[in-house]
Parts: sequence; C-alpha cells; structure tokens
Amino acid sequence: MEAFRVLIVDDIKSNLMVMAKCLQGLCEVIKAHNGRDCLELARTHPQPDLILLDVRMPDMDGHAVCKELKASPETESIPVIFVTGNDSEEDEEQGLLLGAIDYITKPIRPVIVRARVSVHMQLKQQRDKLRFMALHDQLTGLFNRYFLTENAEVRLAHFRRHKTPLSVVLMDIDKFKSINDTYGHEMGDLVLMAVAELLENNTRREDVVARLGGEEFVILMECPLDAAMVKVEKLRQQMEQLMPQGLMVTGSFGVVDACAEVMELNPLLKRADECVYQAKDQGRNQVVGWCSKPAALQELNYKGN
Ligand SMILES: [Mg+2]
Repeated sequence: MEAFRVLIVDDIKSNLMVMAKCLQGLCEVIKAHNGRDCLELARTHPQPDLILLDVRMPDMDGHAVCKELKASPETESIPVIFVTGNDSEEDEEQGLLLGAIDYITKPIRPVIVRARVSVHMQLKQQRDKLRFMALHDQLTGLFNRYFLTENAEVRLAHFRRHKTPLSVVLMDIDKFKSINDTYGHEMGDLVLMAVAELLENNTRREDVVARLGGEEFVILMECPLDAAMVKVEKLRQQMEQLMPQGLMVTGSFGVVDACAEVMELNPLLKRADECVYQAKDQGRNQVVGWCSKPAALQELNYKGN
C-alpha cells in the first residue's frame, strides 16, 4: 500500500518542525509555509491524503485556503484539519462550516495530533478498501461488472473523441458447468482464478480485464481488430496449455471492433456474445471476430485443435 501523505501548513517554521516530529514514523510528511504553497502541493501528484492547516497565516489565511481547496474538484476530497489558536472558538466554527473535518488547538499536544491523524488514516484505508471491493470481483481480483458498466462508457467516450482503436473481447470458458458438476465448485473456483491470472498477466496494463460473471470474462484492448485477433489467439493457446489443477480448460472467444459502428458497451458485448455463440457452435476453443467489413475477417478467425 502507498504511504499515507500528510501535508502540514504553518507560517512558523518551528511549528512545522514540532508537527513533523509528532507524525514521525506514522506517515509521510510534506510541508508548506504559506497558503499558496499549500494549494500548489495539494494539486501535485501524488496528492496528500490529509492536510493539517494553520488558520492564522499572513497573506492567505487557512480559511481562504480551505475555501479554494473545497471549490476545486481536483482537491475538494482531500480532508482538512484546522490547527487553531486555543482561544478562538469562532475560528473552529468557521473552519468546520468551510468543510474541514476536524480541528486541533494550539499549543498542539503530540498525542492528540497523532491520534487524530491515525483516525483519518484508518478512515482513508477503509474508504479505499470499500472502493476496491465495489469495483473488483472478490474471487479473481479482476474488475467486476459494476466497474465495466460504470467506467467503460467513460473510457469508450474518450476513445471515440480521440479516435483510438479499441477491441472488445468476450471469453466464455468451455464446458465450465461440467467442471463444477464433476469436480465440485471449489475446483471450479480454482480454475476461474487460474484463468483470470492468465488473462491479467498476458494483457497490457492499459487493457481492462474484467469478470463479467460466472465463467465469462471481458477484455477491453486498446488496439484495432486485426491486432486484437492475434493477441486473443495467443491467449487461447495459452489457455489450452494452462491445465489448471491438471484439467484441460479451453475458452471460446468473441472479438469485436469498437470503432466499426457502435461505441457503446452493451451493443458491443451483445455482438461479442454472438461471436462466442458462433465459436461454441463451431466446436469451442476458438476465436471468432466481428467487424463491419466481414470479408476482411475470414482469414482472421482461429480454431484450436
Ligand atoms: Mg500561524
């Protein structure tokens, strides 16, 4: 897991040093001496996970900084804790109204600072975990159907704008039901995990590999159909040789050209599903492609032995 980064902001150098010492060993600390630097660092990647923000600063005070942070979509989600003078209840009120999640009073007590930061570290980790769980398939760790439906459209729209070639691959493991029926669901799960790993390890980082459900997998490949067909044929062969748990496991693949006519996920998946169906019909363990110019495709389809 990446280190938790805390940005501490104070116009007085010794305050920054005391604060940094409080957090030593707990998280990564970056420092800013004024509001402008804070805003700059908040926008710089990797962004801070939490900002400890002094209220009283010359030029731009903490409240003004917070307002700007919360007004920009880029920085609005970074939690802010104000560090306020001990006699300024109004500051605290105003800070919370501006969207800060907490405040710490000066003179700071190291135990309190550490405790508050720890709480927010835990919350962030929980948020990240929930986010991961929402977007990934629990069994295989691949992206899930929800991720595909929520994120694929955004990706497709991007490809449409930039005219990037994209191919959509659908794969269905052949006779998977008989694996479950013959060897039990635990064996079936192990096969799914092995196949998922093979797909993940043999595609590029920018390709999206997802488990659609059951024994169906989807790959969004950033390349035109002819290149995708070659890559998918390689995957088919690798799957044939995988022998997870000593079993012969093959897949039927459908590959469609996203640039051809439609650029929306559901019609593309439907088309890919028709290709898979055709592959099954022709004897399974093969790759069937589809594009708007079917004549160009005939030489591209592949069959296993
Ligand atoms: Mg100050």
